[in-house]
Amino acid sequence: MLSTVISAAIYAQPYDMVLAHGRVIDPASGLDAVRYVGIRGGKIAAISESPLAGVTVLDVSGLVVAPGFIDLHSHGQTPENYRFKARDGVTTALEMEVGVSPVPEWYRAREGRSPINFGATSGHLPARMAVTHDTGTLVPRDTAKRASTPDERRQTFDLVRRGLDDGGLGIGMGIAYLPLATRAEILELFGLAAQRKTAVYVHMRNGGPVEPGVIDALQEVIADAAVTGASLHVVHITSMGLRETSLCLQMIRGARARGLDVTTEMYPYTAGMTDIGSAIFDEGWQAKQGGIGFGDLQWALTGERLTADSFARFRRQGGMVAVHSIPEEVVRMAIADPLTMIASDGILENGKGHPRAAGTYARVLGRYVREEHALTLMDALRKMTAMPADRLGIQSKGRIAVGADADITVFDAARVVDRATFENPAQYSEGIPYVLVNGILVVKGGELVEGVQPGRPVRR
Ligand SMILES: [Zn+2]
Repeated sequence: MLSTVISAAIYAQPYDMVLAHGRVIDPASGLDAVRYVGIRGGKIAAISESPLAGVTVLDVSGLVVAPGFIDLHSHGQTPENYRFKARDGVTTALEMEVGVSPVPEWYRAREGRSPINFGATSGHLPARMAVTHDTGTLVPRDTAKRASTPDERRQTFDLVRRGLDDGGLGIGMGIAYLPLATRAEILELFGLAAQRKTAVYVHMRNGGPVEPGVIDALQEVIADAAVTGASLHVVHITSMGLRETSLCLQMIRGARARGLDVTTEMYPYTAGMTDIGSAIFDEGWQAKQGGIGFGDLQWALTGERLTADSFARFRRQGGMVAVHSIPEEVVRMAIADPLTMIASDGILENGKGHPRAAGTYARVLGRYVREEHALTLMDALRKMTAMPADRLGIQSKGRIAVGADADITVFDAARVVDRATFENPAQYSEGIPYVLVNGILVVKGGELVEGVQPGRPVRR
């Protein structure tokens, strides 16, 4: 009798929060229906067709309730960036391409201080920069032009390995930023990833149509994955592939059909952005970027288009430059391809940077799903949730399922849109009224909730 009373009392206990009467879309299960979602202890505890009792009940009628977006390529890992990510519906932002080194210090600096979940790979570039005392910030600047000595190569490898042992989410690699890194050195790192049963996230050695270009660069990393057994994730396929993107996707499809674990991602913009002082702008960059010129480069700090003169000046100084090199039809084709995940590659610094840092996810949902019908809402959400979670091998994220982490993005499919532009990138996306991270609201009524830090580290 007593036990019946107790279980009845537990049964009647309301959920911490209930999202009431929203259109739940969960690409992992295929669910697309009106449901009540009960949240307890930071987890999704119930998904019900009938009303649930909650301490807090949010009426989300007419809104989409989706798994929180997982950004695999988020260089911006500061409070400023996390705010823009949250307003764009991102609940987990990961620095996978460049990665970090040393790993423990990086996690420690963010624990208990982040509104959204965070994580990083063990990075080859930062490890190599530490060993050679390079003065670059995100990517190498002054030691990219020489190969590593055998001793530097060994020290770099040891740092990358230590980063994996310390919980790094895989190996981050930017071969294009170390053009003299030998193929043997890169292969050795793939071997390390395979040994630890993890993935390499790679910015390939070359891009564009002119050889050495994107095709042989993709052949290099697919071959390395094949011979070592490492999983491979190729970053920003459109900015590397340009007009060869379709062939690149065909190659990745072929590799997958033969049993290799190869995935890829893209951002929904026709321009990339990188450091003008980096090896990307070595002699011959115009042809390598598909035949662009100085006027296709845009200085992030001022928004001005470059000339031969300003290019030379800024190259000596270093800094972020937008590269308008990706044809719109390539973006449209790639976004509709079931292989591509959405990832921002974004970073903002004092409000300056590429609009992708603030607008990537709302732009896909507003522009490419609603306005251009380039893909369905379900397919778009899959690219932002279940696919990146599967790439990470994390089953507790990227889905609306009982037991999953309560990372949830609630948006208005009729209104969601990006506002960030190349001239003014620090503008929040619109039409995303609620974002929950581990069951806590970080966006409420379309505004950031101040003083909440529910973000947790994502580790291996
Ligand atoms: Zn990159």
